[in-house]
Amino acid sequence: MNIILLGPPGAGKGTQGDLLSDRTGHPQISTGDLLRKAVKEETDLGKRAKGFMDQGLLVPDEVIMGLIEEVLRSEKARDGVLMDGFPRTVAQAEAVDGFLAARSAAIDHVVSMEVDEEELVKRLLGRAAEEGRSDDNEIAIRQRLKVYREQTEPLVSCYSDRGVVRVIDAVGTVEEVAQRIGEATAK
Ligand code: ADP
Repeated sequence: MNIILLGPPGAGKGTQGDLLSDRTGHPQISTGDLLRKAVKEETDLGKRAKGFMDQGLLVPDEVIMGLIEEVLRSEKARDGVLMDGFPRTVAQAEAVDGFLAARSAAIDHVVSMEVDEEELVKRLLGRAAEEGRSDDNEIAIRQRLKVYREQTEPLVSCYSDRGVVRVIDAVGTVEEVAQRIGEATAK
């Protein structure tokens, strides 16, 4: 089963992605985690990505494709993958379709995690205090929300046309949200 977790920054994609990966046994692809690792290790790709991330902008598509190609092609992704924070642009979504089509697969579920903007800013500022992520300051947070609305949210209607979007209320306890996602992706 191929599942995409789609939602604004702060919606809880990472938390729910971990749980869903455990439940389904599918490998999880989190471009945010892969990028933060590259930045920490100061690889060439990490150095290129850092400036965009700190400003709350998207990292260019070709950098992202370099990052996820290997995972998408890997044997362990054969039965399905769980994508969290990816795809984020129409070009990335088309690339995913290409990879899946090559193995006669397709996206089964796009989980659209909905949280209102005030709650998102509150969560992200809370995380800033706890984890000290360099893009969790208020200016970058507002920018990330804007970028989400402009570049990523349009994917919801693209996928809606295929009948694969499952809209989830992502406000509640971790367990409550996990249950809603579990039910929506059970078939
Ligand atoms: P959040 O969704 O909370 O902003 P992520 O960890 O998913 O957190 O992403 C953090 C940053 O990494 C983004 O603001 C962006 O700069 C970059 N990034 C992550 N995934 C992608 C992607 N698929 N395409 C472009 N940039 C990405």
